[in-house]
Amino acid sequence: MRQEASKTRRAASRIATAVKAVVGPVIQEWPLWLTIVFTLISLTWGNLEYHVRTLHDFPPVILWWACGNMGVVAVAATIVVWIVGQLPHRRAVKWMLYTLLLALWLVSLFLLRNFNTSFSPQILQLLVETNRGESTEFLQAWIGTPGTVRAILIAVMTLLLVLLAEWKRQAVASRLSRRVPMAIVTLLLVALLVRGLGLWRKLVHPYKSLYELELYQTRYFSTDVISTLHTSLTTLKLQRHETGAAVDLNVKTALAAPGVTSAADTMDLVLVIGESYNKRRSSLYGYQLDTSPLMRAERDKGLLTVFTDAISPYNLTSVSIKNMLSLNSLSRGQQWHQYPIWPAVMHRAGWQVDLWDNQRSYGPSEIHSVSLMSFLFAPDMVKHVYHHVNDEAFDLDGELIEDYYRKSAPTSRNLVIFHLMGQHSNYELRYPHTADWEVWTTADLPAAAAPYMDESRRQVMLHYARATRYNDHVLASILDHYRDRNAVVVMLSDHGEEVYDYRDFIVRDHDPNKTALMVRYENDIPLLVWCSPVYKSRHPGRAAAIAAASSRRFMSDSLGQLMLWLGQVTSPWNDSTLNVVSPAYSPGRRLIYDGIDYDRLMGR
Ligand SMILES: [Zn+2]
Repeated sequence: MRQEASKTRRAASRIATAVKAVVGPVIQEWPLWLTIVFTLISLTWGNLEYHVRTLHDFPPVILWWACGNMGVVAVAATIVVWIVGQLPHRRAVKWMLYTLLLALWLVSLFLLRNFNTSFSPQILQLLVETNRGESTEFLQAWIGTPGTVRAILIAVMTLLLVLLAEWKRQAVASRLSRRVPMAIVTLLLVALLVRGLGLWRKLVHPYKSLYELELYQTRYFSTDVISTLHTSLTTLKLQRHETGAAVDLNVKTALAAPGVTSAADTMDLVLVIGESYNKRRSSLYGYQLDTSPLMRAERDKGLLTVFTDAISPYNLTSVSIKNMLSLNSLSRGQQWHQYPIWPAVMHRAGWQVDLWDNQRSYGPSEIHSVSLMSFLFAPDMVKHVYHHVNDEAFDLDGELIEDYYRKSAPTSRNLVIFHLMGQHSNYELRYPHTADWEVWTTADLPAAAAPYMDESRRQVMLHYARATRYNDHVLASILDHYRDRNAVVVMLSDHGEEVYDYRDFIVRDHDPNKTALMVRYENDIPLLVWCSPVYKSRHPGRAAAIAAASSRRFMSDSLGQLMLWLGQVTSPWNDSTLNVVSPAYSPGRRLIYDGIDYDRLMGR
């Protein structure tokens, strides 16, 4: 009995010693600790200001997110003050740290106030690529802007606060060391460190691919300077390896390899890549609201084949599209960057290749966008792989399509790839707010009676339905353009989307534990192939082969083989066992998220 009591006492005193070892230096060097924590969260400040000033709100999720950013920095700050406490030349080291922190703070404020960004991959890339002459010019251009002046003022004020805090350091530290204040500081610090350590997982993970980095960034989201610098440097490193290799492969290998088109007649081949398309919200796939009336009409005319079992290998835009364009096969363990993209192969075989991408300027400093766009729009790709690309993006997908048809210069064999904004959140931004498109009310929504469905959620669902109906119109406008020509249009989505289908949740879930329901809504995608009447009459056998394949199992990483077959292109990368309309089709297991067997998960 007595032995146990003394054991407990010893354990308690050990914990007390450990807590003191962590909290003690923080209290002693509280000005340095606070300076580290508050100067390394510039984006957090920007975001808080934006919510309070512009949106006049302060949602709890913002507070949670701000605590995360502070937590990441707090872990580093606590280690730094502990080390400083152990050093012989404490004062000198401290003032060196202050100088460094204030310089970093000034740069962060400059980036935030002028460009609303932090140390993004793009900014770092610019730093690396810019020579001295350019940077002098750049500084001259930005030196007098209101943003820069405010940045300097805030930095000077911070310096004054630091001086004041250092002057009062001892006095405050001895007050904080009393029992009650110490207990409060300990509680706050531990909470912050626990939150921060959870997010540090992302900073210490050994990354092997951009996909992995994007996944972790989504799962452990934080935007403090430490996280941003880490993500940006890792992005640049992986990009050099992955994207660089892929671009070289396309420009040097695919464009030089033998490739021929056997078809004699002129042809238009169109690929439309949709975005966040939950196929169960389309009347083509059974939704009770008629969100796809125009595509249903094409199906009823016998021109449109609706594939019923198509999936995407991931629920992230970037990696899904890279695998869709590359001629790799995930079932066979092949990575996207080890194979050329089929548009390059078609270019080599004599096709004109155009890319009109409405996500070109979307979230330019975010990893999901940098990862895809730095590949698709790499200078070498733009120069060698495509003939024309869009130079602007539009609020609505219909405007992107009009822009293309205004500027396109068709030749005998045209391939055009449209990458749409589709039904990307926020859904209400994805359709025109006019009487034509503000159809239905929340009362018309089917099956919206789940206990979590309130009016605001029904409104979100309604926006999604309207955006889907607008997408139907955009697709139809493309088909109308080719109605009298020898053309095939292929339409699919990068991935699916959850819209309160079976739980109180929208968009996509990045939890590594996938359930059948999650995958059903986030990975099932629509796949549509439209043959123009001219194509149908000239190639009845091919049109019949497409129609006959509609219920086959398909994963979008093998899209390339279908496209090569449609273009009648022969190349070293053709593989009929991966072509969904071929009698030889035998694609193997559909492995999603790098190894989950989709069909097994769905209990088939
Ligand atoms: Zn997407």
